[in-house]
Amino acid sequence: MLIAGEMININHDNTNSVSDLLDFTRNILPFLRDLEEDEAGPDATETAEMLGIPAKSMVVLSRNENPYGPSPLVRAALKDVPMHRYPDSRPLLEAISSYTGYPREWLVSGAGMDEIITTICRIFLGCGDLALVPVPTYNVYGLAARLCGARPIFSARLPGFAVDPEVPRGVKMAFLCSPNNPTGNALTEENVRAVVEGTDAIVFLDEAYAEFAEKSLLGMVREYDNLVVGRTLSKAFGLAGLRLGYAVAPPWITEQYRRVAPLFSVSSLSLAAGVAALQDLDWMKECVRKIVSERERMRRRLAGALPSQGNFLCIQTRQKSKAVAERMLQKGILVRDCSLFPGCGEHCLRVTIGRPEENERFIELFERSI
Ligand code: PMP
Repeated sequence: MLIAGEMININHDNTNSVSDLLDFTRNILPFLRDLEEDEAGPDATETAEMLGIPAKSMVVLSRNENPYGPSPLVRAALKDVPMHRYPDSRPLLEAISSYTGYPREWLVSGAGMDEIITTICRIFLGCGDLALVPVPTYNVYGLAARLCGARPIFSARLPGFAVDPEVPRGVKMAFLCSPNNPTGNALTEENVRAVVEGTDAIVFLDEAYAEFAEKSLLGMVREYDNLVVGRTLSKAFGLAGLRLGYAVAPPWITEQYRRVAPLFSVSSLSLAAGVAALQDLDWMKECVRKIVSERERMRRRLAGALPSQGNFLCIQTRQKSKAVAERMLQKGILVRDCSLFPGCGEHCLRVTIGRPEENERFIELFERSI
């Protein structure tokens, strides 16, 4: 009643027309008005429906998932999870602590690394702040910075996709990704050290694909007060659908993180799955072994494929990648056209390493499509 009364008064004062009153969109924060939606590529089920084929026959090589899925221990661990209680993330943090060798105070977990990235940005970035994003790279860094009203600076890379060690003054966060999505290269330790030591910004190093790489720089977090390393269970551990990520950071940052992060964003089921997956490192390592061996086999077969340390290959195409990806989609094979990645150009395709039979179908069609 009171609300209706207030509305009538406003009208009576005739300061606003009815159509003005209904323009609720003006309440949207100005810096969010033209934010693009994140784009994860075509959905497999939708594409199968469109093609009139069973979803099972689609070959999905567009999202860098693990085709073998998680350890069988995961499904067993889900059976006894109490669903009427709020989740307890401590067992997962314990398991991550054993896996990484870092004490609990250096760790935070979240609903996928994407949530970790957006939460870290909320600690350090506000309206008008600058975030450095060497491109091409994963799209979420720029989006997360924009969500805070900050401005991403998309900088060009050096030869070999190395990062320019000079971070411009005034930058508050710099985003590194190693192995990098979509190019597949790993940054050298010297390159990362030069960036971290040469700036007063917070450096976020994304190691989503570290398990597939020759080397991780996780140990460096102990040495610097401004370095955060992000990790995920979506890739090598095969848990993309359950949304589990974590970060290793100096305790002064994890303390801030816990203040800012949503309290219960990871469900009890996901937490239990994460603990079980981390208890079966043999399964994860066997997945990695198969994927890395397929990656190298595919690279030898595919002209234009760049060396990669991830579970995917970046392929330079002669024809426009958008057209190549579209032709493959029509045949039931999903790959990622990278032309929407800033700085990637129009001739770059990213293909996830799948099971050998899926990879064969891809290679066969790719050779006919380029
Ligand atoms: N970082 C990189 C480089 C990625 O490619 C991805 C997912 N594709 C993520 C982070 C996000 O991972 P998560 O599923 O844990 O949100």
